[in-house]
Amino acid sequence: MTKHIFVTGGVVSSLGKGLTSASVGMVLEQRGLSVRMQKLDPYINVDPGTMSPYQHGEVYVLDDGSETDLDLGHYERFTNAPLTRQSNYTTGQIYLSVIEKERRGEFLGKTVQVIPHITNEIKNCIGKLGGEDVDVVITEIGGTVGDIESQPFLEAIRQFSLDVGKENCLYIHLTLVPYLKAAAELKTKPTQHSVGQLRQIGIQPDILICRTEREMAASDREKIALFCNVPVKAVIEERDKDFSIYEVPLSLVEHGLDELIVNKLGLPKQTLDLDNWRELLHRLRNPETEISIAVVGKYAEHKDAYKSIYESIDHAGIDNHAQIRIGRIQSEDIEHEGPERLLSGYDGILVPGGFGERGTEGKVEAIRWARERKIPFLGICLGMQCAAIEFARNVVGLEGANSTEFDKDTSYPVICLLDEQNNITDKGGTMRLGAQVSTVNDASKSLECYGTKEISERHRHRYEFNNVFRKQLEAHGLRFAATSENDTLVEIIEVVDHPWFVAVQFPPEFKSKPTASHPLFSGFIQAAVRRSSNGAKKEVEV
Ligand code: GLN
Repeated sequence: MTKHIFVTGGVVSSLGKGLTSASVGMVLEQRGLSVRMQKLDPYINVDPGTMSPYQHGEVYVLDDGSETDLDLGHYERFTNAPLTRQSNYTTGQIYLSVIEKERRGEFLGKTVQVIPHITNEIKNCIGKLGGEDVDVVITEIGGTVGDIESQPFLEAIRQFSLDVGKENCLYIHLTLVPYLKAAAELKTKPTQHSVGQLRQIGIQPDILICRTEREMAASDREKIALFCNVPVKAVIEERDKDFSIYEVPLSLVEHGLDELIVNKLGLPKQTLDLDNWRELLHRLRNPETEISIAVVGKYAEHKDAYKSIYESIDHAGIDNHAQIRIGRIQSEDIEHEGPERLLSGYDGILVPGGFGERGTEGKVEAIRWARERKIPFLGICLGMQCAAIEFARNVVGLEGANSTEFDKDTSYPVICLLDEQNNITDKGGTMRLGAQVSTVNDASKSLECYGTKEISERHRHRYEFNNVFRKQLEAHGLRFAATSENDTLVEIIEVVDHPWFVAVQFPPEFKSKPTASHPLFSGFIQAAVRRSSNGAKKEVEV
């Protein structure tokens, strides 16, 4: 019988529910249990694919092509749980499915209502993840307890324990215990209120995880336990981690979280093996060198827009024993201030994916800087497209070369719409999405990194390198290092006369883990470390 853990959040948003859920999943996996992870998001968009990064941060893409919440990135980085379309549902998706059923007449004339029809649909989505080979499903509920929009989800998870038995469900509530400077103490009242709200709708949390800046005293935990009706040992402190998010699971274990869960759910008590994770933290704490990488994007100021990229850079740093300082550079600033002022001194430059014209000329300038100064460069999606544009303009001499996304009438459309995209008008879920196989060519930097010719990477784009220009660019020193099946679509380009210039049409950052860095990120950081130790950096700074 699959056991279910539900994670809710209280007091404020951005408490790190995703990270905490992922940590719980990781710890249970390291106790030999088979885990599945899921997030239920209360907003009405069908998926985050159509949302601005300012609203939502990064869109995390899965192998099956679903465009999901960035918390799923934490799940994949911390656990081995397979993620699919069933791992992320939104209110929009739930209603869409219920309304479609209603149109097909499946409710046989009944009035369709939030309870039971919407809640049944939600319970169904939760139940789908269980199965014979699954010990635990962890379901994270987005939003904050008390929000109107998350109520149907909370009602559904309340009912769920009635359906499958209370002994098979466990509720974890993540809450904030703020420190009030004026009073010089931690305050428990917001937590009391938040748990009060949960209890009002019939959910008694089993475990409270308390986010706090300062160490909690025994008296704080006792007070929370008393007012929130949980045993003292079920009040777990989760103190802010200044050093690394990868410390979170270890600290939860120190506070006894895994024991509590295993005991409450009657799960088999296997020993916990955290050696890998400890080794990872050891490496992180003991770097042999320090380098700096510039990420030049349109959303540089937004901490979540390139989340998986920043994480992947860190993973490659761990792999290369290097501490990495990441400079977040707004690409539009390069248009105004020039690359020299903003990019001098960096050991590597990365241009991430994106949509729309704003800031693209700054990206092209940054790429030119990296190519001409022989600074290691990794271009991703739009970053790859800008690299092709830069090469066409400045090496081949095709003045005004561009993507038809930004200039429909360009004389040199080196990037253009995929044929299959020509008649598509709907914006949601209609790009080239998900895992696609491609073949890496011999004698490329990419092959050195991957060590294998057949690769599978996730995709999310509408535009594509225009094959009409392949020969011309190749003749000037661009290497087409990987193409899709039948050689139809360009997947990776490399500048031949350059120490490390690789640009990819797919986002590799969705397949990097702290314990297994993505080969291209590792190769990129290795090249940057090499450059830094060669003293080349000083030349640039002069
Ligand atoms: N806007 C470009 C396209 O649609 C690049 C997409 C991306 O960077 N993910 O092809």
